[in-house]
Amino acid sequence: MKFKSLAIAMTVAGVIGGGAHAQEQSFISIGTGGVTGVYYPAGGSICRLVNKNRKETGIRCSVESTGGSIYNINTLRAGELEFGVAQSDWQFHAYNGTSKFADQGPFEDLRAVFSLHPEPVTILARRDSGIANITDIKGKRFNIGNAGSGTQGTWEVIEGIFGWERSDLALASEMKSAETAGALCDNKIDGYFWLVGHPSGLTQETIASCDAVIVPAVAPEIDALIADNPYYRYATIPGGMYPGNPDDIQTFGVGATVVTSASVSEEAVYQVAMAVLGNLDDFRKLHPAFANLKAEEMIADSLSAPLHPGAIRAYQELGLMD
Ligand code: GLU
Repeated sequence: MKFKSLAIAMTVAGVIGGGAHAQEQSFISIGTGGVTGVYYPAGGSICRLVNKNRKETGIRCSVESTGGSIYNINTLRAGELEFGVAQSDWQFHAYNGTSKFADQGPFEDLRAVFSLHPEPVTILARRDSGIANITDIKGKRFNIGNAGSGTQGTWEVIEGIFGWERSDLALASEMKSAETAGALCDNKIDGYFWLVGHPSGLTQETIASCDAVIVPAVAPEIDALIADNPYYRYATIPGGMYPGNPDDIQTFGVGATVVTSASVSEEAVYQVAMAVLGNLDDFRKLHPAFANLKAEEMIADSLSAPLHPGAIRAYQELGLMD
């Protein structure tokens, strides 16, 4: 609700100041994730491009650091955010009312805008922990992600495929991503995982602070999960991307996507879609995880909710869509 009171404050200021533009201001907020992840700088990059045109469009974009995908989708549904970044698995389940969203039912007004970078399951472990693959996590002290994160939701899926109970972990902590590097290096946990783009600040910070390794997520149960669900795919974290981790790491993951709601105006969504896809060369330079983004994939891959009409208008104008 913060942006609404700000909007009122700005309208009042506009009226007092008599400024024509200020009266037409509209505010949009993008829900992201923890500050050391990629969602937060992704939101910042999107807003930076949107705000370049704010004199002409009257749209002011701001970023909120949040708990992650599931928080963003629920807050969008409550009408308290205009945009959110969300994992493709949770976009799918929210739109269809499945998995964690079964109780709430389908979020029929969920709309896709575009997809961003791949988010592989990224397991960081202490070198002395005995964790060499995802299957070794059972019995360890492990951070499963904070409540509201897409990460914690996907942990529940992982428990399901291996038949693990929460009590199968010696400790199941739910720290926010920004706290996990310290906990791992202080030997309070053996490992943590999250679904994140690469390179990511937290992964760098963990490996720079102590002797941590990224371990694979390879198992027949994962092969079956990928075969059964369109939003999971195999992924590789390239060897050499992080010091001390010279070999390719085989894992699986989802895509990061930007979502909105049917109740957000066509103009606002058009401006966001246009700011990013119409300036993709600039956008790619704003974070190294965006370096390989391709327009054709961004407007189609990992999106299970329908595209918002404002996004379709932008992609048609850009000649990306008929
Ligand atoms: N995929 C993560 C989540 O939704 C967030 C990753 C990030 O902040 O970059 O929990």
